Amino acid sequence: MRGLWLENQNMSYRENIPVPQPAKDEALIRVLRAGICNTDLELMRGYYPFTGIIGHEFVGIVEQASQPAWVGAKVCGEINVSCGECSECRGARFIHCTARTVLGISGRDGAFADYLTLPLRNLHRVPQGVSDDEAAFSEPLAAAVGILEQVAVHPTDRVVVIGDGKLGNMISQVLALTGANLLAIGMFKEKLALLEKRGIATGFAQDIVPHKADVVVECTGDPTGLELARLAVRPRGTIVLKSTYKGTATVNFSAIVVDEVTLVGSRSGPIGAALSLLAKRVVDVLPFIQTHFPLEKGLQALEAAAKPGAKKIILTIAE
Ligand SMILES: [Zn+2]
Ligand SMILES: [Zn+2]
Repeated sequence: MRGLWLENQNMSYRENIPVPQPAKDEALIRVLRAGICNTDLELMRGYYPFTGIIGHEFVGIVEQASQPAWVGAKVCGEINVSCGECSECRGARFIHCTARTVLGISGRDGAFADYLTLPLRNLHRVPQGVSDDEAAFSEPLAAAVGILEQVAVHPTDRVVVIGDGKLGNMISQVLALTGANLLAIGMFKEKLALLEKRGIATGFAQDIVPHKADVVVECTGDPTGLELARLAVRPRGTIVLKSTYKGTATVNFSAIVVDEVTLVGSRSGPIGAALSLLAKRVVDVLPFIQTHFPLEKGLQALEAAAKPGAKKIILTIAE
């Protein structure tokens, strides 16, 4: 089969990769579309050591499964594959499984290929009316929804989202559904305009009212975002941390201690809930798409995705 293969920080397009053999509890999935994510670019830069097929944002069709009801289903999948036996799994913290593999990121070949395998328990059927392009966003959208699994956001809360990238935009759209008093802070007028169109208030860093927000989400992807979050949060408020970056952030932790601020690290979330928001058409992800590339032009696609200010690049792998 065809695929984008990473080895020693070298990416290549290959046509001679064997089709993966699904284990007993796994499905063989033919990939239809796959989104390029910043994590893919970071893998190429050596952020994590990984050899194999990258890619973790996908929609596909189940071609083989031990349970026949799945065969032919259009699916998205949870990307963390847990062991079910370690102490984290026994505590139902499956994404923190100490023996986990992660699709296209760690120990498991990913979605930039004709086929991938995932356990059936990881799969979610794509609801009627959700397009393949929309479904390809289910994984990053789930990361936005995951905030609500970790932090209670009330309709009376003041919420500030700092970051106007794709993830920041999705987080703002999801948190707006809570009815909270929401302000999305960004750096680019045209990016914030996408939120304004949906009735979400936006502003720049200077529009932050100091120490008033009950919940602040930091998703700038940059260490400087944390200082803005600290400025925005009220005493005993909560800062949700969504950014991962190389290097370390400098922040005045004494102020966090004195103000008794809660810091919450947040990674991923429920794919099924993300798909249902897409099906209800209460969240719009299509404006983030820049363009599509066929899989065989994958190297060009990755280059395009790495350009500053690039929007989502989607690989069209099969129809
Ligand atoms: Zn991703
Ligand atoms: Zn485990």
